[in-house]
Amino acid sequence: MKAVARFWREKNGKVECYLCPVGCVLKEGQVGSCGVRANVGGKLYTFTYGSLSSAAVDPIEKKPLFHYLPGHRTLTIATPGCNLHCKGCQNWEISQVPKGQIFTDPFYEETFVDPSFVVDKALELGCKSISYSYSDPTIFAEYLIDVARIAREKGLKNVVVTAGYINMPALEEIDKYVDAYSVDLKFFSDEAYRTYSKGRLQPVLETLKYIFEKGKWLEITTLLVPKYLDEDQVRNIARWIANELAPWVPWHLSRFFPHYKAKDLPPTPVETLEKAYFIGREEGLHYVYVGNLWNNPYESTYCPSCSNLIIERRGFEVLRINLKNGRCPSCERVIEGVWDG
Ligand code: SF4
Repeated sequence: MKAVARFWREKNGKVECYLCPVGCVLKEGQVGSCGVRANVGGKLYTFTYGSLSSAAVDPIEKKPLFHYLPGHRTLTIATPGCNLHCKGCQNWEISQVPKGQIFTDPFYEETFVDPSFVVDKALELGCKSISYSYSDPTIFAEYLIDVARIAREKGLKNVVVTAGYINMPALEEIDKYVDAYSVDLKFFSDEAYRTYSKGRLQPVLETLKYIFEKGKWLEITTLLVPKYLDEDQVRNIARWIANELAPWVPWHLSRFFPHYKAKDLPPTPVETLEKAYFIGREEGLHYVYVGNLWNNPYESTYCPSCSNLIIERRGFEVLRINLKNGRCPSCERVIEGVWDG
C-alpha cells in the first residue's frame, strides 16, 4: 500500500531519503535504488506498506539464530524490495523490484495486511516472535516499526534479519522494538561489497557495533561466496568480531549456491567451509557454525571450555538441549545466549 514514508527530507526541490546509506536524492516521479520508495508530488512514499510478499512460520534456527530461545516458532514476513543488489541473491524474485513496477503493478495497492492482523496471526499460530526477513526489512522500516510495536505490547519478541545496510536514525527507531538480530557481514572488503552487492562495508560494521553496544542479542552470518570472499577476509571478519564485539558472538558460515546473476560461480567447496570454521576458532570465536550443508558436525553447540555437547541440531531442528540454568551441566561455564523468555 502506498503510504508517506519516514526518514526523508526536502533537498533543493527534490527529496532525499536517509533511511539507508545509498542516500537517494529523487526528483518528481523518480524511484529509489530499492525500487519501492519514490518521490510523488514532493513527498517520499513507500509503496510496500503492508504489501506482504511472503509470510511463513519457521523455526528460529532458520534465521539463523542458534542462541535465542532455541526451537521456537517465528512468524516471518517480508515485502518486496531491497537496498542491496547482490549478484547471488536467492530471494531475488521478491528483493529485486524492476524500476517503475510500483506505479503499474496492482499488487502494491491491492495487498495490504494490517499490522495488528500479523500480530494476531502470530499468536494464533503459537509463535513466540515475529521475524522481519527474506528481502531486507530496512526498506519496510515503517511497517516493521508498526508491527513490532503492537507485537511487543502483546508479549511477542521481534527479530530482524538484515544485511545491516541502514542509517543510524532509522536503526535507532527500529531498535526500540527489536529483541534479537541476525546480521549478514558479507565481506571484509569494500571492493567486494561494491562489486557483488552495490554496497559498502563501513555502514555494516557500524550497524553491528551499535546493536552489540545496545546489548541486543546478535548473531552474524557470512555467506562464503567463491571468488569474492577470500581467506584473508574470512580471517579479518573473525578477528573483527572477536576484538570489536566479543568472542562469544555466534558466527554462521553459510554455503553459497549459484542464483540470479551469479550462476557462473560454483557452490562453496566443503573444504572451504571447514577451513573457515577452523579460522574462526583459531581467531578465538567460541561459537562457529556451518550452514547450508547437510549433516555436518558444526551445526551443534559445544561448551567452549570442556567441549560438552550443549545443543544438538540437525539442520534447523533442535534434537536436544543440554543446559542447566544457562550453563554447561558438566563444567558450569556460562553458555551465552537468551534461553528463557
Ligand atoms: S531506502 Fe531506498 S530510496 Fe531510501 S536511500 Fe535506500 S535505496 Fe534509496
